Amino acid sequence: MRDEGVSPWATLVFEVMSQQTPIPRVQPVWQVWMERWPTPAALGAASPAEVLVAWDHLGYPSRALRLQQCARAIAARPGGQVPADLEELLALPGVGPYTASAVASFAYHRRVPVLDTNVRRVLARACDGTEFAPSSAPSRTERGRAESLLPQTGEAAAEWNVALMELGALVCTQRAPRCGECPLAQGCRWLTEGRPAASVRPRGQSWAGTDRQARGRVMALLRDSHTHGRQTTREQALRVATLPGSDSEQAGRVLVGLVADGLVVERDEGTVLELPS
Ligand code: SF4
Repeated sequence: MRDEGVSPWATLVFEVMSQQTPIPRVQPVWQVWMERWPTPAALGAASPAEVLVAWDHLGYPSRALRLQQCARAIAARPGGQVPADLEELLALPGVGPYTASAVASFAYHRRVPVLDTNVRRVLARACDGTEFAPSSAPSRTERGRAESLLPQTGEAAAEWNVALMELGALVCTQRAPRCGECPLAQGCRWLTEGRPAASVRPRGQSWAGTDRQARGRVMALLRDSHTHGRQTTREQALRVATLPGSDSEQAGRVLVGLVADGLVVERDEGTVLELPS
């Protein structure tokens, strides 16, 4: 959460969860996590299986395991607290530039920009007059421009960051920007220049039939089996990983990938699958 009074640890967990998952889905899971594991040490002491079950349907479950590694690294620091320094945050497992700057800004009021996809789109449109074409990471130019726009104090910068994120999420949306309701409309270059189209169209994220969908189904089966103390056989896992119309190798490939990622372990010569203990 990005409100006052939320601990740095709770902020870090929220930002990791909300990076690839919509906030309405994150909120209830985050609340359960914070009640159950209010400190890094508490999450560090849980079993990976418990953590994966509690991750529920947030997707990309490798994030849950990295978050636990991060919790253990923080708990091992003197004092066991989330660091405030950007470089120290970036040195934690699973913490990239977005999460580090979000924690530094929201939890510690460090004067740093927080560049998520929404903010990058708003700034590209309003300042450059161009439609945003996502690249993997913000460029140095983007970062420099965002820094130059920050208010002078860290507290005001945190409010600015939250405001831009919300503007991008609710008003300056990718598909249907509501320029008539936008407080930046008067100075927005993209609007003034007639809302030019992007030279590169962002690719839509497909889901049905993908390995991601099949992985999600296997993880849901294993979470359910773990919760109810049941065994999952490889045959059962292969069945749920087989999607209608998928290629014949997909289900096997998905299981191999989950094992390689440490999300699933094999037992009894590979005939039984389970979450890591
Ligand atoms: S005026 Fe339109 S394009 Fe410009 S920042 Fe506002 S919503 Fe986005």
